[in-house]
Amino acid sequence: SVPWRGSQKRLFSSTETCRTVMPAWVIDKYGGNDVLRFTKNASFPIINYPNEVIVKVSAAGLNPLDVSMRGGYGAATLTMKRDPLNIKQSGSEFPLILGRDVSGVIMECGLDVKYFRERDEVWAAIPPWKQGSLSEFVVLSANEVSLKPQSLSHTEAASIPYVATTAWSALVNTGGLSKDNCAKKRILILGGSGGVGTFAIQMLKAWGAHLTVTCSQNAERFVRGLGADHVVDYTAGPVEEPLRALEKFDLILDNVGGDTERWALNLLKPWSGAKYVTLVTPFLQNTDMLGIADGMLQTAATMATKAVKHLVRGVHYRWGFFAPSGPALDEIRAMVDAGQIRAVLDETFSFSQVPQALEKVEKGHARGKTVVQIS
Ligand code: NDP
Repeated sequence: SVPWRGSQKRLFSSTETCRTVMPAWVIDKYGGNDVLRFTKNASFPIINYPNEVIVKVSAAGLNPLDVSMRGGYGAATLTMKRDPLNIKQSGSEFPLILGRDVSGVIMECGLDVKYFRERDEVWAAIPPWKQGSLSEFVVLSANEVSLKPQSLSHTEAASIPYVATTAWSALVNTGGLSKDNCAKKRILILGGSGGVGTFAIQMLKAWGAHLTVTCSQNAERFVRGLGADHVVDYTAGPVEEPLRALEKFDLILDNVGGDTERWALNLLKPWSGAKYVTLVTPFLQNTDMLGIADGMLQTAATMATKAVKHLVRGVHYRWGFFAPSGPALDEIRAMVDAGQIRAVLDETFSFSQVPQALEKVEKGHARGKTVVQIS
């Protein structure tokens, strides 16, 4: 395809803009950490559409999704999204670059890009069907990108976009929350100590909600420090028991999944518009197992059955999904620069330590985010 090249004066060196290859961590097949391969010869990204930008990656944030994708999770749906007409041969997603969060500098803009210029410092969450940020450069649509908060370093900024846009999509778009309607709402966050939880606590606290958070005992001080009002230790016994003793909730964000659905919806205020939003959904697992058509049918049937089952009891059951969004990141930037949200870094790694970084994410027990410094 013919690349759309911006006509602006080049601010990057000619060697940088004329390159055809770049360093990256790639996988050539699905599997464990041993499938990760460092190469200096990954394809340099190309602007294929006039609204795209190429970003020089300074830091890349990792998520549990990277570990799952390394093992092939979501491959059926993501391959269809990358190549809807099935023009390429099977296996065409390889070499695949993981990494969903990026903070970096715009190197080149497509002709229709209006709101960004070369040299702008930006952050973004990269959709899983696109090449990721464990590489020196990445191409994104301008509407997925936002100016980076000035108060954060690139390493700090790379810890936020994917979990923030996921929390935004789940709480604002699906849960109906906003800065204007949260005051005094009682919200329960199941799983508050990881990436999504640490972001959601801070955002909802800034909006005035009353937050009950579950986590393990050794994370209690940590989540209180982020804004949790009441903390319940899930390692002390069945967590639903202490939760049942509390006043009922207006919204539950479930970052844990598993058997929580059996009891969590009983903790909502019935017939008041209260919602349970879970991020742990069977969508990609269904399409991996059953294929796209049957997987989607199965997913729709499961979703509808559960929604109706709970609706007749006066509460709303919803699935939350990551949604890439530059505009959401613009709003989050304002909260970060106003001091309402901070980056919560668990551990940082160098570019040569990507396998160790993924191993860390795979071990679980996150306390915030794992970030790789790229350049
Ligand atoms: P992380 O791995 O960063 O955090 C998970 C946290 O949950 C850890 O701090 C862990 O710490 C804690 N935890 C584990 N078990 C429990 C439990 N039973 N009760 C309370 N806390 C628990 O994950 P993320 O925050 O990034 O993601 C959370 C979930 O959301 C994941 O399942 C992820 O796949 C999903 N997700 C879904 C998306 C979508 O589009 N639907 C998008 C993004 C995330 P410890 O084990 O020490 O207690």
